[in-house]
Amino acid sequence: MKIDPQSAIVFDVLAGQTFRITDVEGKQVADFVCFSAQDFSEELSTKTTIDLNNSIFLYEGNSVFSNRYEPLFTLQKSPVPHHDLIFPACSTSMFQSLYSTRNHPSCRTNLTKVLEMDHIPDPVNFFMNTSVDSTGKIQVHEPLSGPGDSVVLSAEKDLRVGIAACSVEESCCNGFDCTGLEVAF
Ligand SMILES: [Zn+2]
Repeated sequence: MKIDPQSAIVFDVLAGQTFRITDVEGKQVADFVCFSAQDFSEELSTKTTIDLNNSIFLYEGNSVFSNRYEPLFTLQKSPVPHHDLIFPACSTSMFQSLYSTRNHPSCRTNLTKVLEMDHIPDPVNFFMNTSVDSTGKIQVHEPLSGPGDSVVLSAEKDLRVGIAACSVEESCCNGFDCTGLEVAF
């Protein structure tokens, strides 16, 4: 399945199923949210994930957890050292606030549209390259992912998944250029 630049897709996966998200051209962030397919009130929680993994980043081998402290999926393989759990999905309000741009495409708008939900949780930002120094200062760097690099995930529950190819072209977050992603099973 292709995810065009500045757009999003939704799909379902079954517990035990493995799937991969590929950064087709490199340096492209994938905003990832998911819900228990049986009960959408159980959703991905970056804060619970930070709590249970004792880390503000997501590493290969880590699981991602729900607001009910249940594992939703596991990051089996990663081509980059870690992934971001800190930043919210980009949104129309964010573009207006940071860049004074009106009606900019955004991950939040794209995800709420494809998921047909008003509320979406804060995402796991695959390939997003952030750092935190000892004073707590956060910095965004260009992604380290190259063309064709993939993360491999395995579902721990039946899930409804939404993934957006991040819409930020104004910063190094996506290497100043929004490109596409691909999902394969
Ligand atoms: Zn975004």
